[in-house]
Amino acid sequence: MIRASVKQWLVATTLLGLGLLLAACMLSGPARAAEPGSAARSEPKRVLILHSFGREFRPWSEYARSIKAELERQSPWPLDVQEHTLLTARFNSPGPEAPFVDYLGSLYQGRPPDIVLSIGAPAARFVQRYRAKLFPETPTVLTVVEQRLVNRLDLTDNDVVVSVRNDFVAAFENILKLLPDIKTVAVVVGASPLEKFWIDEVKRELKPLEGRLDLVWYSDLPFEEILKRASVLPPHSALFWGLMLVDAGGIVHEGDIALHRLHAVANAPIFSYQEPFFGDASVGGPMHSIAETSSKTVSAAIRILGGEKPARIKYEPIGFGPPKYDWRELQRWGIGESSLPPGSEILFREPALWDRYHWQMLLIAAVILIQAGFIGGLLSERHRRQLAEIESRQRLTELAHANRYSAVGELTTSIAHELNQPLGSILTNAETAELMLKATSPDINEIRQILADIRRDDQRASEVIRRLRSVLRKRPFEIKDTELNDTVREAIGLVTALADGRRITLAYAPAAAELHVKGDPVQLQQVVLNLIINALDAVSDADMKKREVGVSTGRAGGHAEIRIADTGSGIAVGDLANIFNPFFTTKPQGMGMGLAIVKTIVEAHHGTIAAENQPSGGALFTIRLPIIH
Ligand code: ADP
Repeated sequence: MIRASVKQWLVATTLLGLGLLLAACMLSGPARAAEPGSAARSEPKRVLILHSFGREFRPWSEYARSIKAELERQSPWPLDVQEHTLLTARFNSPGPEAPFVDYLGSLYQGRPPDIVLSIGAPAARFVQRYRAKLFPETPTVLTVVEQRLVNRLDLTDNDVVVSVRNDFVAAFENILKLLPDIKTVAVVVGASPLEKFWIDEVKRELKPLEGRLDLVWYSDLPFEEILKRASVLPPHSALFWGLMLVDAGGIVHEGDIALHRLHAVANAPIFSYQEPFFGDASVGGPMHSIAETSSKTVSAAIRILGGEKPARIKYEPIGFGPPKYDWRELQRWGIGESSLPPGSEILFREPALWDRYHWQMLLIAAVILIQAGFIGGLLSERHRRQLAEIESRQRLTELAHANRYSAVGELTTSIAHELNQPLGSILTNAETAELMLKATSPDINEIRQILADIRRDDQRASEVIRRLRSVLRKRPFEIKDTELNDTVREAIGLVTALADGRRITLAYAPAAAELHVKGDPVQLQQVVLNLIINALDAVSDADMKKREVGVSTGRAGGHAEIRIADTGSGIAVGDLANIFNPFFTTKPQGMGMGLAIVKTIVEAHHGTIAAENQPSGGALFTIRLPIIH
């Protein structure tokens, strides 16, 4: 029930709303019809725009474009805008205007336009001359015309004048203010009758500046020659761009192409008092404002089209607007902003690098920050790793030292034997010498010989002690240039007695040339010592004829090689992958640390170690260390 009543209420309010809307539309109809001009809504207002030189001829083209656009925007009536160009004004000796007058006459006969807008002085003159014939009742707005060119005698009550006032002194004062060192100003003006008129006007107006500036007139030069001269102006020069309709060579210059060409070659800044020339060539300064002329023209046109009498609409000539400058030109010619008059507007300022690329810069900064973070992290990681490396080296040194003790422990018997031999001989020799001295005439020569033997045996014993002390000394890991042949020989010296005691042949075949590596000699001796002791262990059970351990050194490419081969039973194939693991041993009393230490020492020397079984039987260990020379 409730839902049904809500539905009915909704339908009722919707219908009511539609009804109100309809009523509003009906009521608003007659009200709108009462608005000025809207009775003729279906009948557009006919506007004739008459150009002096052409629809694309600067500066007038820019005023005309703005006037047309503004008029179309502001007009409460539909508009039928027709544009015609008085081409004859371009030529130095204009031809007859009659055909153009006839053409317009036939166009507007019986149906004159509602308003005529003449753009520029020639169009104003034309309208004044032929209006009686063409459209005698039509109101006219004579616009974009310099006040000196308005033919006031022929003005009627049906005319509105929107004129401008050229102030050449102000334009040149602007140049002097911006370029205080200026000496020469070259004036670019064409040679048409209108341009000649202006040359005289400029000369007359600038009389007060005569002593301060050297004025050069380009009016009697073809434009190509003007370009040449403008490219080689002396220092402290400027160019004043007046007008270039027809040059002295009779060539008509359309639009702003001529100004662009001049800008491309000129070696001095260009000044102009026309806003249409501002924005891509001239430095700027006080100039005629398009917007002001356009807004006055449009306002007059709308008032006239709305029924107001033109005679009631009066405007003073429009002077230059507030000065405007092109930032790019100021930069190009090194003109500081401090030299601009107060209240100046600077346009076309190129955004700073930050404004233009702030996203990219933020992105780059972010990438740099992230990278810096990574680098910081890596550096601290590296530092930690270095600390760990130092610590592990220290541990290795300690471990290796302990391992040397255990290796030397194994050698105790043979060392004792090695020491016993010279000590025993020393004792025997000493006793013999004593006996000889007791004789009545001792043989001095014989005694001298015995003493020499004692000394030799003492040296042998000292050598054993020295070797032991050197290998057992606790020292930090020390990398230096080490000659491998000698290092290996020293290690062999420690185990020779052990090998002899076990009736094992320990052969050493050093490389013919010296082998220099970077390393710690004591650690490298330990490597050789461990491997030889293992080899001696391996051959101890072998047949008496086959108890051989061969040590050799050599060179293989950029590496020095130490090879330790034995004639033992070799390494079980299943164990080959494990023998370098700590605590891997197959010996009842073994520790399983010897090879693990060997591998660690070799790798700390940036070397490699490999174990294999020889085809003839027995194991072969090969160590490779980077050679330095
Ligand atoms: P340990 O000698 O205390 O056992 P090592 O690390 O020096 O410890 O050796 C590990 C194992 O490698 C030995 O137990 C042995 O089985 C094997 N091995 C080492 N050298 C040889 C060799 N020359 N011939 C045969 N086996 C070997």
